[in-house]
Amino acid sequence: MTTHTRVAVVGLGALGAAALWRLAARGVDVVGFEQFGIGHALGSSHGQTRLFREACLEHPGLAPMAAESRTLFRQLEQASGKELLRITGGYLIGSPESDVVAGTARAADAYGLPYERLDRAALAARLPQQAELPPDACGIHDPGCGVIDPEATVVAAVAEAARLGAAVHTHTTVETLEPGADGVRITAGGRVHTADAVIVAAGAWLPPFIPELELTPVRTPLHWFAPDRDGAGSATDFAVDRFPVIVRQTDPETVLWGHGAVDGGLVKLGIGDIWGERPPRIDPSALDRGVNTAEWRRLSALVERVLPGLDPVPARVEPCMITLSPDDQFVIGTSPASPRILVAGGDSGHAFKHCLAIGESLARDVAGEAQPYDLDFVRPGRFAV
Ligand SMILES: Cc1cc2nc3c(=O)[nH]c(=O)nc-3n(C[C@H](O)[C@H](O)[C@H](O)COP(=O)(O)OP(=O)(O)OC[C@H]3O[C@@H](n4cnc5c(N)ncnc54)[C@H](O)[C@@H]3O)c2cc1C
Repeated sequence: MTTHTRVAVVGLGALGAAALWRLAARGVDVVGFEQFGIGHALGSSHGQTRLFREACLEHPGLAPMAAESRTLFRQLEQASGKELLRITGGYLIGSPESDVVAGTARAADAYGLPYERLDRAALAARLPQQAELPPDACGIHDPGCGVIDPEATVVAAVAEAARLGAAVHTHTTVETLEPGADGVRITAGGRVHTADAVIVAAGAWLPPFIPELELTPVRTPLHWFAPDRDGAGSATDFAVDRFPVIVRQTDPETVLWGHGAVDGGLVKLGIGDIWGERPPRIDPSALDRGVNTAEWRRLSALVERVLPGLDPVPARVEPCMITLSPDDQFVIGTSPASPRILVAGGDSGHAFKHCLAIGESLARDVAGEAQPYDLDFVRPGRFAV
């Protein structure tokens, strides 16, 4: 028997779970399909933490989205009884003209967000774990930075959606979507469903559903480091309260990002991918889930140079993926495939902090509500020829 719902969501990672929750919160009849379990470690939304920043240097239009997400994180924390976003403050470091320092200041100034400028001496005093600060180094202290628990966020959003009436089908792969005059025919797990509208939030698996959008899934592993017990580092120096969120531009192409150990864990660090060379396209279902020494050698060398208190050999590595759009901004809203198919993807490595606001904006689209801030820079139509 065919079942019909007003909206179906394909993929319940960060973006799909958020859309499901925000639609269910409006009383919309909604069903979600997830090929794995909820909060799994096989897509883009696993690995214990994601950085949160409100003064987003990636695009000046992202600040209101991050602010709305912060409000919704607090709402989801209330509903779930779990801490999902821990505000730690953070340091954005580079030369005065660097993308990281100048871009963050631009976004903060545009939206009146508070921050503190630090010269090299102040920066070195606040973060003595750092080495090789060049003579022109300076920094911004952004009190709004923090760390998010990604798995707990996805689990909480889906649980809250289900509590509000959403149907959730886990371990059910959506095979085809066929939009027609009366709705969209969905085949999933060998059964047929229909919906008035479908939101495709399939992460790295999204491109074949909407080939009109040039989205490229790539492998981007997560790396964790431990203090070097024989060297200068100690667990206390690298706990998150002493070593909070950092984003340090070490040269025009290289950005080291990360944060100190949360609750006695490891220090998480990575190299900014969005400014560098594009990695090769991968097939997410055939992702190499092994650990590749060549892949972390560049990060390891950078850690050895600028954070000498850490053991430069990663203590833990986990595969992950991001999906790049041509301009490194998300792709959110009505797709070129059909007015009945909305898309939520092209995360480009920085969407987790915005996921709840993205879910809310998709719910507003479906409900025909006005958007409270500009979304043109993330609309799929910007790629239309
Ligand atoms: C190393 C790394 C570091 C990052 N750091 C940050 C950070 O600090 N801050 C930040 O904001 N962002 C960060 N990100 C980006 C952020 O994690 C992603 O933008 C976000 O998790 C993307 O969520 P998603 O919902 O698009 O994808 P996913 O979470 O992968 O969700 C897609 C879901 O769709 C499901 N699916 C796919 N196809 C089907 C199908 N046919 N049927 C049913 N289900 C299907 C998948 O199983 C999956 O669960 C980082 C990403 C990586 C990899």
